This record gives sequence, C-alpha cells and structure tokens, in this order.
Amino acid sequence: SREVRLERRPNGSPVRDDFSFAEVDLPDPGPGEVQVRNLYMAMDPAMRGRMSEARSYVPPFELGKAMEGPAVGEVVASNDPNFAPGDLVWSRLGWREGFTAPADKVEKRSRDLPPQAYLGFAGMTGLTAYVGLLHSAALKPGDTVFVSAASGGVGSVVCQIAKLKGHKVIGAAGGERKKRYLLDVLKLDGAIDYKAEPSLTKALAREAPQGIDVYFDNVGGDHLQAALAIANKYARFALCGMISQYNSTEPSAAPRNLTAAVTKELTLQGFIALNHLDKMDAFLADVRAWHAAGLLTSAETVYEGLDRSLEAFDGLFDGSGLGKMLVKIA
Ligand code: NDP
Repeated sequence: SREVRLERRPNGSPVRDDFSFAEVDLPDPGPGEVQVRNLYMAMDPAMRGRMSEARSYVPPFELGKAMEGPAVGEVVASNDPNFAPGDLVWSRLGWREGFTAPADKVEKRSRDLPPQAYLGFAGMTGLTAYVGLLHSAALKPGDTVFVSAASGGVGSVVCQIAKLKGHKVIGAAGGERKKRYLLDVLKLDGAIDYKAEPSLTKALAREAPQGIDVYFDNVGGDHLQAALAIANKYARFALCGMISQYNSTEPSAAPRNLTAAVTKELTLQGFIALNHLDKMDAFLADVRAWHAAGLLTSAETVYEGLDRSLEAFDGLFDGSGLGKMLVKIA
C-alpha cells in the first residue's frame, strides 16, 4: 500500500521534493483493529499550515511520516466487533491507499449518500459553511451575503445555504468558468471574477449596490478589504480562512481599511469548525433534508489516483478546481 510522506517543510509554495511516495506492508488487523482501503481523500487548504513548523489549532505533520487528512474508505478486514468488511468509514488517515488502525480511528457512515459527500457538503466542509454562516455570522432575514472563494468546497455550500434561506448572495471566484457556475448553477444574484476586475471593491459595489450585511471570508487580503469597504453598518463577518496568505512568505498588505470595523461597528468573528462538533447532528439533519429536496448539490473536482494527489493539492492554490478538491484513491 502506498502513502505520501512529508520529507521537508515547504518554503512558500510546496514543491515535489518536499514529499516522497513510500510503499508499506499493511499488517493484518490485531484485536480491536480494522484494515481499510481508502476510496477518496479530501484536499484541505489547512494541510498547508500543517506542513509548516508553526503550531496552529492542529499540530504540524511529522517529517518522514505519511500526512493526514479526511478520507472515506471501505473496511476490508476487521478484528473489531463493531465493524465488518464492506462498511463505509470516515477517518483522518488520508494520503495513503490503505491502513490498519485501531477501530476508534474510524467512524461508520451510511450508504444513503455517495461516499465522497462525507468529504464535502455532508462532512467537515459542509459543517464549516453551516457554522460560519448560521452561528458565527448569525445570518438573519433580509441579509445580503458576500462569499469569497464562492465556487470552492466551503464557499459553494455557504452560497447554497444562503440561497435556500432566501437571501441575496454575491460570490467571488477566479475565472469566467467559475463565474458562470455561480450564476447558472448556484443561481447567485451577483458574481465577480476577481481575476478580471481591476478593483474588487468597485466590482463588489456594482454587484451589491445595497451594501453587504454578512461576509463569509475564505480568502482574506484584498477580498477582506473590499468587504470592509462595502459593508453596511453592523455587518457581521465570519472569518473562516485566508487562503490568499497560506503560501506567502510575507505578511499581507491588505486589508488597509480595518478602521471601517470601528466606524461601521462591525462584528468580525473567527471560528474553527472542529470546535463546533456539538452542531453536527443538527447540521446533518438539515443537510440531508436539503439534499433530498434538491436544494443542495455537490460540487467537486476529482483527481484520479494517489499519484495525482500533489497536483490536486496545488490545485487548491492555483484555482484549477471547482468545488471540493478530491482524490479518488481506489
Ligand atoms: P476551496 O475548495 O475553497 O479551495 C480553495 C479555493 O480558494 C481555490 O479553488 C481558489 O478558488 C481559491 N483561492 C486560492 N488562492 C486564492 C487567492 N490567492 N485569492 C483568492 N482565491 C484563492 O477550499 P476549502 O473549501 O476546503 O476551504 C475554503 C476556506 O475555508 C480556506 O480558507 C480554508 O482554510 C478554510 N477552512 C476553514 C475551516 C475552519 O474551521 N475555520 C475549516 C475548513 C476550511 P478561485 O479559483 O476562485 O481563486
């Protein structure tokens, strides 16, 4: 079974030599253990943080060891009474074709949704969108919502939840294809191709002449600056991530207008979805109902094979993926 290891901490954008592919033998499961064959793994921007030494809300990846990340797989052998071959399971043991591990490292998932949904709208990605929009930004009737990286994994779920709740939603994404996706598939009220706009602030003012009441920030930098500039009084910002900075070696130049937070009496609320697992049951009940009613579609880009995992990871930053970035392992 093959796995991808971190060999060296990247400086700026990761390069191929920062990683290695290794072949390992999977032991038969001992008492209380299961053996799993991974089907899909998710590519998360937060993995970039774990490649660095700095401690974040999750510890750094260890050098010379397989990296970790959300994955769904199938139990192939079990020495634990709670699991049987064929069970669909979720784990954090991605970046490898398979593994043998204690049964408490995996969680069973039902087959009523496609396996990869548990890495997207019905997994941590969806929970992040749900918690950020409904709790951190405290979405309320009449709000106009602005979402950055709107066609991405988290962003596409944020847009859909805000739309199904009847809000006016404006999304920003890179490129004409993504802009069309926001307008034609997600049915947003306005879309900005930020790569084609000389001024993001002017573009946002054009798409949201009434201002914005909620900003869901996945990007930081100039997107946050535009949102601060266009925000209405008492607007609430859910600070989810700042992907424009993850590969930078220098601090960001924007936003340069944070004073707007004072004058407009804004609420800037950062959040970590992992600290909101108490909302998982409510989230899953809502998401299943919305999906069954056809109100929530899954957007994903799938790279085939562990060999392409590094390419998929790069795709998070060069914008080549639409929706949740996944690697199909088996
Ligand atoms: P995405 O699917 O959104 O993938 C990343 C996208 O970000 C790309 O497709 C690209 O879209 C966009 N992007 C990359 N670089 C830039 C840039 N320099 N400027 C503008 N856009 C850029 O990933 P996820 O859905 O997994 O994550 C989205 C955000 O949510 C990230 O910031 C992540 O760190 C954060 N997050 C936070 C969590 C929390 O608990 N707080 C949990 C999970 C995720 P485009 O082509 O449009 O540029």
